[in-house]
Amino acid sequence: MKLSSVLLGGPMPAKQHVGRVALVGRPNVGKSTLLNVMVDEKIAIVSPHPQTTRQRLLGVRTDRTSQIAFVDTPGLQLGSTPPRHRLGVRMQNEALESLRDADAVLVVVDARAEPDAELLAVVPKGAVLALNKVDLVRPRSRLLPTLEAWQKAHDFAALVPISAKTGSGVADLLRELGERLPPGEPLFDEDTLTDRPARFLAAEIVREKLLLRTRDEIPHGIAVTVDRFDELGKRGTRIALTIHVPKESHKKIVVGRAGAVLKAVGTAARHELSRLLGVPVHLSLWVRVTPDWVDDPKALGELGFES
Ligand code: GDP
Ligand code: MG
Repeated sequence: MKLSSVLLGGPMPAKQHVGRVALVGRPNVGKSTLLNVMVDEKIAIVSPHPQTTRQRLLGVRTDRTSQIAFVDTPGLQLGSTPPRHRLGVRMQNEALESLRDADAVLVVVDARAEPDAELLAVVPKGAVLALNKVDLVRPRSRLLPTLEAWQKAHDFAALVPISAKTGSGVADLLRELGERLPPGEPLFDEDTLTDRPARFLAAEIVREKLLLRTRDEIPHGIAVTVDRFDELGKRGTRIALTIHVPKESHKKIVVGRAGAVLKAVGTAARHELSRLLGVPVHLSLWVRVTPDWVDDPKALGELGFES
């Protein structure tokens, strides 16, 4: 499986800096994009829609000096934008729990945004701030006053301007984070990339391909579950998934005219999964109406969202 390719140059030092770092912030600031860059593999799904990430996901980076387990979390919906349904409440709890369990906290914000008091109220002292999307800051001279404003607003251990998209500043950020973790024995094998099984990644990749092809309220109503995941050796892996939508009208949109949307989703997901798993992948997708699942505790449990 290609999931386990990490190159290490030379012998490992006796002690590495080791720990869990929670990535927290508002929706859509680039937390998942940054996670993927930091672990050198696309394990977290990314889309232009807020609330793309619904469940926490661990991404492990092991190098000669550190092993950092990054916890990607759903975006925090604070103060003026509280969660609107049970799914949102569960997502929020996951994010807040990850914040409490972490050895260090990495707060991700948009480098174009002013300090956010609602966000800073839940951020512990000594967190590291990443000002992401610096590639979009115009004019560039606006960055310095923004940095100073964030520095004044909270007791951060470090503030690092980055672009998860271009990779600029990410090496500095990794160094800052590594230095803040205590020396210790690695928590994971050096070839571990995530704590989630391949079937979780399969469901997420299908959901991402759908999010990239739908608009308005459709993305928020989609859930994907795995019905079968059969590893057939050389013949590859056969995966059957169900796409849940809340209404009959959504089902029509997800299927598309003459099945066009579903077909495009299947093709894109199959390519990405084959690359990630390193074997040919056969996918079958079904669309099912599961009414009101975002607010139904039983349906949420069945779909894997713990209370
Ligand atoms: P999350 O909700 O915080 O996890 O954000 P995502 O990682 O899903 O990213 C949200 C959107 O921002 C996606 O369209 C990303 O491609 C985009 N994005 C993330 N990082 C950057 C960046 O550094 N620069 C630019 N221009 N876009 C970014
Ligand atoms: Mg995300």
